[in-house]
Amino acid sequence: MNRTHIVLLILVVLAVPSAAVAQARPFPGPDVPQIYQRLLPQIEKIPMFDHHAHPGYADDADVDAMAAPPGTAALRERDTNPELVAAAKALWGYPYNDLSPEHAKWLIEKKAEVKKQRGNQYFSDILDKLNIEQGVANRAMMAEYLDPKRFVWVFFADSFMWPFNNEREAARNADEQVYIPLQGKMLRRWMQQEGLGKLPGNFADYLSFVTHTLEDNQKKGAIAQKFEVAYLRTTKFSDPSRAQAEDIYQRFVSGGIPSERDYRTFQDYIFRYLVSEGGRLHLPVHIHSAVGIGDYFNLSESNILNLENILRDPRYASTTFVMIHGGYPYDRQAIWLAAVKNVYLDSSETEILLYPSEFKNVLKQWLETFPDKVTFGTDCFPYNDALGAEESYWLGVQSSRTALAAALAEMISEGEVTEAQALQLAHGYLHDNAVAIYQGKVH
Ligand SMILES: [Zn+2]
Repeated sequence: MNRTHIVLLILVVLAVPSAAVAQARPFPGPDVPQIYQRLLPQIEKIPMFDHHAHPGYADDADVDAMAAPPGTAALRERDTNPELVAAAKALWGYPYNDLSPEHAKWLIEKKAEVKKQRGNQYFSDILDKLNIEQGVANRAMMAEYLDPKRFVWVFFADSFMWPFNNEREAARNADEQVYIPLQGKMLRRWMQQEGLGKLPGNFADYLSFVTHTLEDNQKKGAIAQKFEVAYLRTTKFSDPSRAQAEDIYQRFVSGGIPSERDYRTFQDYIFRYLVSEGGRLHLPVHIHSAVGIGDYFNLSESNILNLENILRDPRYASTTFVMIHGGYPYDRQAIWLAAVKNVYLDSSETEILLYPSEFKNVLKQWLETFPDKVTFGTDCFPYNDALGAEESYWLGVQSSRTALAAALAEMISEGEVTEAQALQLAHGYLHDNAVAIYQGKVH
């Protein structure tokens, strides 16, 4: 150690106490815009893992297990959103400043041409453009045109809860008339996959059909099972016995319409069975936990807090739960569920529903509470030919990066974290937190 080293050491030692006594301030300083400008390019360089998305072409029915009913779209999700022009310019070099039908034709033709040229690399190219290393494909079935090196499958597990006559279930409202028959279709596909011509005659065999489907999907590369049950019924699950579920199964497997109470009891048992199998098989459980599309989506019946009894149940301590869309608009409550060691929040959809100025506040509160439990996702979806999965990928990525840089800039300016810590949090949110869940199956 020479004299310079000693001087440096003394300086470091002297610097520590002042940093240690620094207090967080309730207002950000005037340095926020500069910190933001410094962070954003560093954040753009972080390769991302997209924890929730529906990649695929607009004419591909397997892109989801359900279909979107006509309903009111929030302002940013309408085709009048001027940001879509920016997306088209960034992704395709779109030469116009609006998406009028004649101009949008250019976009449709451009995409068709690139699709022909690039074939199965088309969607990998989109990931490359956005610096997404790997992403979830939450789809009914995987598509041949998605490169398995870049896209990992998350399948839908809801349909096991609707094996009986669903006439009354579908008649509840116009949305259910669309959703419920698709659950029946999904269940028949799983039965076909498992070589079943009809439902097993007894309950034990039904449960082993469910388990075999999970195992076979896992063999096909699935990394998680997804529930969109919030679209279909309340997410409050009771705790019935196996005997109760078995009795209902035996009474309705060959026909007849169960009472709503019987159907819910049966579903409550099956949901818990799937959650517990998810722990045994190391097959994490993804649950849609935010507001949904359609005019009949019931916010109070799908409140993320309805699931608290499941998430905090010690019987499911080995099941990893990912609360897809982070419970929005109950995001403030949702983050406290991430206190449970096996519960994570995914921010997809929220970053597209909200503008970055408001999404920044959601993210900031999450990062200030359990930063190691929050993950990035786009929820990209092929809405139509002009607003495809491609553009929603872009919108999700831009919104998340800018809101993240803004949230962290405020946290640095307010004395909550250092710049080095902030960049660690950015890596966690955009990549590391999600990847750590899947035990080497994703990167
Ligand atoms: Zn989704």
